[in-house]
Amino acid sequence: MEAEGPLVSVLDHGALKLIQSYGDDSMICRAARVSVDGGVREGTPSKERDRVLIRYLAKQHHTSPFEHCGATFYVKAPIFVLRQWHRHRTQSYNELSGRYSTTFGEYYLPTVERLITEQSQDSRQGQGRVKGPEEALMAREKIREHCEKALEEYHSLLEMGVSRELARSVLPLNVYSEMYATANLWNWTRFLKLRLAQDAQFEIRAYAKAILAALREVFPTGMGAFAEMEGWG
Ligand SMILES: Cc1cc2nc3c(=O)[nH]c(=O)nc-3n(C[C@H](O)[C@H](O)[C@H](O)COP(=O)(O)OP(=O)(O)OC[C@H]3O[C@@H](n4cnc5c(N)ncnc54)[C@H](O)[C@@H]3O)c2cc1C
Repeated sequence: MEAEGPLVSVLDHGALKLIQSYGDDSMICRAARVSVDGGVREGTPSKERDRVLIRYLAKQHHTSPFEHCGATFYVKAPIFVLRQWHRHRTQSYNELSGRYSTTFGEYYLPTVERLITEQSQDSRQGQGRVKGPEEALMAREKIREHCEKALEEYHSLLEMGVSRELARSVLPLNVYSEMYATANLWNWTRFLKLRLAQDAQFEIRAYAKAILAALREVFPTGMGAFAEMEGWG
């Protein structure tokens, strides 16, 4: 079991942290080599042989050996990011509960640059028509005002005695929530393929980049092979 990673900042108030990982590059090779040699052999001391094998496995889509490794991340992200994230059914999740907790207080405020950017020219993903910094600043202020008001209402409902599970219904989608997400290495690569792509939303891509960086620390050869194949840089 590998040690925890650092708490990495993502977006304005978000964060990501590697909580635990299991396996390593040599585990991928051990699992693959049982096909040919059987037995419970140790990993080979040759990093170069392992590197060649891992690249071959990735290229041939012989992906099951990558399932013997995995990682758990702590994620603090806007609810709309978590909602996209939870579509990935091959991960296991535990999230902060609005029924038991009242810790919602921070919200995501996109930057002026982000508000202007049209993310994709050739699809309907992320289309926007904010013309320039002035309009963007106005839009940003509108979002801020709306969120401040919503949080105020949330707390006033709680003070009136409304239950947490109902008071939360006035919270906007950009409020930050927190979760743990666990997957095996192959399923992390599937997540990364979809969420690092140009047509994925900027905000979830920011988290995907942080996941890739953390996984590359623990599985330099395994993740390196996929990063090279997929052009993740
Ligand atoms: C850019 C982008 C835009 C999107 N836009 C929308 C949208 O507008 N609306 C929307 O609803 N969703 C949208 N999604 C979500 C998308 O449809 C998928 O739900 C999400 O990306 C998870 O992918 P997945 O099913 O491959 O992942 P996982 O759920 O992790 O599944 C991994 C793989 O396991 C297999 N699998 C898992 N469960 C099943 C099952 N029940 N039946 C068959 N095979 C299964 C499939 O092969 C699947 O590819 C979008 C995703 C992206 C990346």
